[in-house]
Amino acid sequence: MAVELLSPRKLAVFNKSYEKQPPNNDGTEGCWLWKLQLDRDGYGKTVGVDGTESTRSNRMACYLKTGVWGKQALHSCDVANCVNPAHLRWGTHKENMEDKKNRNRTKMPKTIRPKPAKVTTDQVNEIRALHKETDPAKKLTVENIAKRFNISYTQTQRIISGKCWKPAIEAPPLNPEGDAPPL
Ligand SMILES: [Zn+2]
Repeated sequence: MAVELLSPRKLAVFNKSYEKQPPNNDGTEGCWLWKLQLDRDGYGKTVGVDGTESTRSNRMACYLKTGVWGKQALHSCDVANCVNPAHLRWGTHKENMEDKKNRNRTKMPKTIRPKPAKVTTDQVNEIRALHKETDPAKKLTVENIAKRFNISYTQTQRIISGKCWKPAIEAPPLNPEGDAPPL
């Protein structure tokens, strides 16, 4: 990513505003779902480079990837609020229309709201203990705790502050034969 195009602070804010999804079934990278404000078409909204104008977050992701502004940020995944640079490329309105036709898509791309990850009671205790750790060699930042438990920064903060956390529900196996559950 051409990170020098955005101030480190803005880039850090941008990078905390999406939730990476697990890889797709075919092994390709999953979507990075924008979890903040969406516009009325379901696209993510973020501040522009100059800090005043708002811009679509997929356009910003495309800009961060390429270092230039293009006409339309086209998704290969048809998820409006996805900001994974691997799923985005600049294109023209015409290409967008051709894309739609080729994929039999007449409607707007869909919007997928990221689901907060679930953590267990033990993990909540561990997260709080890690945060209270006084030994600087063992202490982790909120960001690193979030990474270790594969949860969002916001959720980690909520767990630490005691505001909320959702315990994992042990679902019974869908398929007693032991096959992978249908996706
Ligand atoms: Zn995507």
